[in-house]
Amino acid sequence: MCPVYLASDCHVHSKGIEKAEKVVKAMDEAGVEKIVLFSPHPGLMTMDAGILSRGKFRECVEFASNIQKYNPDRIIGFAFIDPRMEGAVEEAERAICDLELKGFKMIPAGWYPYEERFRPLFEKIESLGVPIIFHSGISWGFPDSSRFCRPVYYEFLIFYPRIKFALAHIGWPWVDECLATAGRFLAAVGWGNVDRTQMFIDITPGTPRLWRSESLRKAIVYLGPDLLIFGSDNGNPEDPERFRRVIVSDLAIFREELGLTSDTIEKIMRRNLERFLSSK
Ligand SMILES: [Zn+2]
Repeated sequence: MCPVYLASDCHVHSKGIEKAEKVVKAMDEAGVEKIVLFSPHPGLMTMDAGILSRGKFRECVEFASNIQKYNPDRIIGFAFIDPRMEGAVEEAERAICDLELKGFKMIPAGWYPYEERFRPLFEKIESLGVPIIFHSGISWGFPDSSRFCRPVYYEFLIFYPRIKFALAHIGWPWVDECLATAGRFLAAVGWGNVDRTQMFIDITPGTPRLWRSESLRKAIVYLGPDLLIFGSDNGNPEDPERFRRVIVSDLAIFREELGLTSDTIEKIMRRNLERFLSSK
C-alpha cells in the first residue's frame, strides 16, 4: 500500500543523537514525506563567538550528512552555521561539496545578518546555489537575541539575487514586517513571479494560536499560497507526535477557518518546499 503523505517539513532540529531508522519510522507514522533536518547547533546555543570551533562544526555537519545518507530522498540535511566561526567560508563549501548537505540554517544571535564582515560567506553560499533558512522573530533559545532577528534585516539579500531563503516563524511577532519583506522581494522580480523570487516564508509555529490563523490568512491574501512552506520545529524527530501535532493543527486552520482548497493546502504542506529546494 502506498503511504499517504500529509506534509513535508522544512524545519526539523537534530541534537546529534538520533538514529536515522527511527527518524524515518516517525516520519512514516506521522505521514511526513520529507524533512529538512538541521545539523545540531554548532555553538551550544550560546551567543558567545569564543565558543565556536571548526572541529565541533565538522562533527555536527558530519552527523547530519550521515543521517541524510540513510534516505537522501526523504531526509534533506542543512548545515547549521554561525558566520562568525573561523573558516566559515571553507567549512560552508565542505558541508555542501564534500558532505552533500543541501542548504544552511542560521540564527542571528550576537550578530546581525547584514554585517559587512559576512559578505564572503554569502558570496560563497550564492555560488554554491543552495538555500538558507533563517530564524526570524522573537528568539527563545538564547539570553537576549531577539533584537538581531527582525525580518527587515534580511533585505540585504537583495544584493545576492541567486540566494533563495526562507524566514521562519512568519517573523512572529513581526508578522507584518515579515510579509512586507517578502512583498519587497516579490516586487523586485515582478509581483506574482513566484518562481523567480528569493524569499519564502517558513510558517513553523512561533505565532501563538490566537494569532496564527490571522497571520496565515494575511500571508495567503497578500502573497498568494506559493511562498509558504510548512514546518513543525520538531526538536525530537524520532517522535511522530511532534510532527503530528502541528500537522493536525495547521490542517484544521487551513480547512475549517480559512476554507482553503485542497490544491492550495497541498502547495503549502508539500509542493512549495520542492520549489524552495530546487536551484534558482
Ligand atoms: Zn527551529
